[in-house]
Amino acid sequence: MEKIRKRRFGIIASLVLAALILLGAFWASVTIDKNKTHQDTLARVEKKGQITWGVKADTKLFGLMDTKTAQPAGFEIDLAKAMTAQIAKQTNTKLSAAFVPVSSASRIQLLKNTNIDGLISTMTITPERAKIVDFTNVYFNAGQSLLVKKDSGIQSVKDMNDPKYTVLVVVGTTAAQETKKYAPKAKIIALQDYASAMQALKSGQGQALSTDNAILYGLATENPEYHLVGGVFTKAPYGMAFDHNQKPMTKQANRALKTLQENGTYNRLVEKWFHNVPGLDWHDLEVNK
Ligand code: GLU
Repeated sequence: MEKIRKRRFGIIASLVLAALILLGAFWASVTIDKNKTHQDTLARVEKKGQITWGVKADTKLFGLMDTKTAQPAGFEIDLAKAMTAQIAKQTNTKLSAAFVPVSSASRIQLLKNTNIDGLISTMTITPERAKIVDFTNVYFNAGQSLLVKKDSGIQSVKDMNDPKYTVLVVVGTTAAQETKKYAPKAKIIALQDYASAMQALKSGQGQALSTDNAILYGLATENPEYHLVGGVFTKAPYGMAFDHNQKPMTKQANRALKTLQENGTYNRLVEKWFHNVPGLDWHDLEVNK
């Protein structure tokens, strides 16, 4: 009797154990699947039917908040919309584009936290950044320059190489590091965004604002007493960025960018946003089809 009871107990115990193992395996597969979707940007955007782009909201011509529509507008916003439509076509999925404003300092962290799926935010491809994010091919060629008051007498970045001068830059950009190379004696003050940097320039906290020429052209159109000087002293090729090791997404984005450059969409957007910018010839920005 005792033997039978023991045997029965043994059978029940192994059945319970088997059920637990199966349940465990089921949970593990669900978690792995969830993590995979979390990690794989392309799978994630296809699943939600949307690409959330991190864009600038303080950078005229590229991404600037339109107070009437409460939506950012600019070359990068239009390019992101065209990219989204093209990626949808390529992957045979329905995709819409959503936008989240980012600053130069916050953008990589927001990408890492998956608050956004991709960045199209005047971000220069640099070897340091390429260690932590995946860049697409270049979609815009900029270069660092200086914005100064027209009567300042400052001609180039070399003129700033004096402790009596202060160069204003924006936090999280490549500008401070690059300025130090060309004007090591100048003081540098870093502001949170371009609106406050421009304000600081106007109030005399610095004699020059330095960042990419294309961004400075945008500021100059709104501030006619200021102009760009000295041409460009760096190369700043812009790339869209995805989290690190996101080959499938980056591949789709590169394919989409190539198509938009070949079918004329890219050049149409360049003309739309840059045809009327004093000092800039938009034809120089066109890509050869
Ligand atoms: N392109 C430069 C950079 O990536 C300056 C502009 C910006 O940060 O938005 O740092």
